[in-house]
Amino acid sequence: MIRPILRLGDSLLQAPSQPVAAITPEIQTLIDDMIETMYAVPGVGLAAPQVGVLLRIFVIDLSVGRDPAGLIVMINPEWQVREGMQLEEEGCLSLPGFTATVPRPARAAVQGANREGEPHTVVGTELLARALQHEMDHLDGRLFVDRLRGIKRDLIVRKIKKLARAGKW
Ligand SMILES: [Zn+2]
Repeated sequence: MIRPILRLGDSLLQAPSQPVAAITPEIQTLIDDMIETMYAVPGVGLAAPQVGVLLRIFVIDLSVGRDPAGLIVMINPEWQVREGMQLEEEGCLSLPGFTATVPRPARAAVQGANREGEPHTVVGTELLARALQHEMDHLDGRLFVDRLRGIKRDLIVRKIKKLARAGKW
């Protein structure tokens, strides 16, 4: 089932998520829905708080469904490695139409459980390192605009408030 994606301004996007205690059928349904929702947009990553569930789960697929091996499901992820720095433009499904150049680690490794609850580690550089940090941030209630310096952040937030007033957000 495709779930609605919350947008900047919704307080759930700014709240920290809680660890998943057990992989129940409800959790598996949530993960299936997150994957379906991510592909429907389409997007390359989605975190549970973006669909209003404050649990530490995210999905990433840089192939957007073209490569079955490209799908990453992470439950209760923890940082293993975060090093270096890259500066590239990125967006977020919770801020449709907006992008910014955001500093992210050049190399990242995250360990967590997969959809079946088995431990796995994902190691990435370039876009994958960026995506891992982006989704980890969501689990801590942080959006990419929160990684920007004041003026850049304010500009995007102001535009979104204007869209919201016009009923277009
Ligand atoms: Zn995002």
